[in-house]
Amino acid sequence: MFRSPEMAKGLLAGPLIGSAMDPERREVLERQGYRIVGGHSGVKLCHWTKASLTKGVGCYKQTFYGIDSARCLQMTPTVDACNLGCMFCWRTQEWGSDSLVDSDDPSFIVEESLRAQRELLSGYGGHPKVSKERLDEALHPNQVAISLTGEPTLYRRLGEMIDEFKRRNMTTFLVTNGTTPGVLRRMHAEGRLPTQLYVTVAAPNEAIYRELMAPKSDNEFRKLQETLELLPTLPTRTVIRHTLVDGWNLGWEEDYARLDALAKPMFIECKGYSFVGESRLRLKADNMPSHAAVRRFAERLAGRMGYGIAAERPDSRVVLLTTDGRLHPISS
Ligand code: SF4
Repeated sequence: MFRSPEMAKGLLAGPLIGSAMDPERREVLERQGYRIVGGHSGVKLCHWTKASLTKGVGCYKQTFYGIDSARCLQMTPTVDACNLGCMFCWRTQEWGSDSLVDSDDPSFIVEESLRAQRELLSGYGGHPKVSKERLDEALHPNQVAISLTGEPTLYRRLGEMIDEFKRRNMTTFLVTNGTTPGVLRRMHAEGRLPTQLYVTVAAPNEAIYRELMAPKSDNEFRKLQETLELLPTLPTRTVIRHTLVDGWNLGWEEDYARLDALAKPMFIECKGYSFVGESRLRLKADNMPSHAAVRRFAERLAGRMGYGIAAERPDSRVVLLTTDGRLHPISS
């Protein structure tokens, strides 16, 4: 199903309609709080967007990079598509597809995602703890986290979509599982890289990668390494995120350091797995490492990489490493 800006205009006043997605799956996602946009995209209000509005507490990326959680749009162009089956993923693994055949128009997705966010926020009008000014700000997001669920690089017009967000003066954070270096190469060639590019590295070696990420072939780990080698050539802010699952991939600092050395990222996030969502069907609460364990890992990795600890958020069990041990917010 293809959509265009003209079609989007016709939809702006009405409810979100139309989807190539299986209606049952769509209903399940909507019950979980998603707004489905077009045929393959989705929006969900982030817990921290709500916390920022009602309690004044932002997410760790607000602490680390200076974004405003209240003004962050959390979305994905691939709500139902991924090419991996990570055990720790908090989303359903019953993916509709491991690729996107048809694709919606990027400006349609952006306009409709912003509209969906406004609708999701509308319930905060009149909330005793949310001022009108703050809500007005939230209704005009200046940041997008393209990371909600699925693998966004499977959307073949991702670069154009990032451009559309940039045109609206929004910073763009993209999270990828690193299995599609060709897409990143093309985005670089077209000058369409995000403000900040995350690559998840959740296995220190191929054996653990096979068990924890459930790749469909032998190619994915090789592709991940290709992406890591590509990272130093990309003119944007780069982040390696280690999602740490106790009993599975926590430790092996030497091996992680070898992989990170390929990427030479500006930032390394060491982040404890959270026992939430559908991951509870695959893992146990014991697989959540304590913040102390995440910090120990971060210290060892920092020592091997020559990086320093720049910040941490115990409530999110996350530690940030940077090359000089200092913060580098996006506004600087
Ligand atoms: S950056 Fe991520 S965690 Fe922070 S407000 Fe946006 S979606 Fe939520």
